[in-house]
Amino acid sequence: MVTGASRGIGRSIALRLAEDGHRVVLVARSADALDTLRAEIESAGGSASVATCDLADGTAVNDLIESVVSDEGRLDILVNNAGITRDGLMLRMSDEDFDEVLNVNLRSVFVACRAAARPMMRGRFGRMINISSVTGLIGNPGQANYAAAKAGIIGMTKTIAKEFASKGVTANVVAPGFIQTEMTEALGSAVLEEAAKRIPLKRLGQGEDIAHAVSYLASEGAGYVTGQVLTVDGGMVC
Ligand code: NAP
Repeated sequence: MVTGASRGIGRSIALRLAEDGHRVVLVARSADALDTLRAEIESAGGSASVATCDLADGTAVNDLIESVVSDEGRLDILVNNAGITRDGLMLRMSDEDFDEVLNVNLRSVFVACRAAARPMMRGRFGRMINISSVTGLIGNPGQANYAAAKAGIIGMTKTIAKEFASKGVTANVVAPGFIQTEMTEALGSAVLEEAAKRIPLKRLGQGEDIAHAVSYLASEGAGYVTGQVLTVDGGMVC
């Protein structure tokens, strides 16, 4: 199951996991975009289903995982990728903008991992992969809410890794740097060009760069890797 699969990084992750041979449950709010992606996966010989959900609603997230497990019979890989920004300098940031970002970017990840843990333990196999950000590692002016949520994902994932390691369930984080999606397009081309110049690898990342990392962490071969943060940022934070 991949959240935030309707566009951007989540779309790339879903395509890659389908290519890897997994049946993928595509989650977001935009039903049309998810249907288009499902058709693309199926026409390439893959298998996918669509589940619309507003991740701001914790009860809906819990129900979603339960229905995925009951419809599909199992849940092996959970990629919590969906995320939002509500940027503003600390002194001007409203409580609402803080709460909304924490709710979608962190609380939904907690609820989804908690709901997925039992079915994964029953199957003695699980891969929880949570998408954080380099902002969660080093902070970023204007993103106190986002940085708090993304740093929270890291602490929570390390805890989940320790709690479920003996049950065959791993939990890891991928922390992207600047990736070319609608989220970063909002910054404007001048800012993005400047950002690319400051990245050691001299380019913005693509969704596929993150999808490769997720594919590895989801694989059988990554069974001895848990509680880690894999930074995929062209060398920005090292
Ligand atoms: P994006 O292009 O804005 O896509 C965000 C995805 O999240 C969409 O599929 C959106 O689907 C979904 N989403 C947002 N709010 C939702 C909600 N309430 N319920 C369900 N789905 C929701 O963002 P992106 O750049 O691909 O980012 C994906 C993840 O990577 C995020 O967690 C982001 O914080 C992280 N990240 C991105 C970058 C970057 O440079 N792009 C860097 C570091 C980390 P709907 O609108 O259809 O619901």
